[in-house]
Amino acid sequence: MMRFSHGPEYGIGTEDISYTEVQVHSLQPGTQVSLISSIDADICSTNPNLILRVQQIISVDRHKRYLLYRCPPTRRSIKRSMIPPHNITICEHQDDSDIDDWFNQVVKAHRAGEKKPSVSFGCGHCDTEALVEILEFEHQLALVMTKWIGLGAGLTPEDPQWRKHCDWKSSTMRCTKGEYAGDSAKASARACFERASTESLRSRNIAFLKDQHFKKCMTQNTFLSFGHYAPDTWSLRNKYPRVIRSVGRIPDSSSFCTYCLDK
Ligand SMILES: [Zn+2]
Ligand SMILES: [Zn+2]
Repeated sequence: MMRFSHGPEYGIGTEDISYTEVQVHSLQPGTQVSLISSIDADICSTNPNLILRVQQIISVDRHKRYLLYRCPPTRRSIKRSMIPPHNITICEHQDDSDIDDWFNQVVKAHRAGEKKPSVSFGCGHCDTEALVEILEFEHQLALVMTKWIGLGAGLTPEDPQWRKHCDWKSSTMRCTKGEYAGDSAKASARACFERASTESLRSRNIAFLKDQHFKKCMTQNTFLSFGHYAPDTWSLRNKYPRVIRSVGRIPDSSSFCTYCLDK
């Protein structure tokens, strides 16, 4: 926001905030849950607000849809609560049972044969908005959660929009099945986010998961786990596609990966 308010020689650009990571959780031999998480940012210029968009896609074998259901906290082991979909959160104010219900509602609708079920909701306190969808690709089933977080104008730590994220109070979430209209009186973080569309981000993230392509583009992280549970993790170190760095623009990338230039 320093750069936005004071000029290009100040602060960092929103591109520098982007990050992508893949976790592979092995539940038992032959049963894996993959999770890709990406963060990107945009600035709403009409009403200066730094918006973070977080997309997390949980992918399982198409015949193992049951792995996408969230079970109540009392029935989760400590390890289970670190495995998707249980480690997915919306904001500090969420009521866990609401989140469980909405995620499960989308999975149940898919089970009942609905084509592209989705649910949208927003936090009544910090205005974080979220969209949960389910889709199929190759032999996988993917639960996609995208959320938009408005962090405020970022010029003072006392900014009321920033402070809202620091309050530890629970709040009701407003939910609508399908599209979420938001509070029309306020600028919606989701509506303000104008960088690449949610659909193109989803395609990019799914392309990383297909045939475990992320193993070609990303670097495996080696953590010391100190006896705790830790999934295998890869992250994208080269945040900028190589193509852009070599030719300065994005050519038609439908036939190859812009990160590793692999077909
Ligand atoms: Zn909230
Ligand atoms: Zn690649």
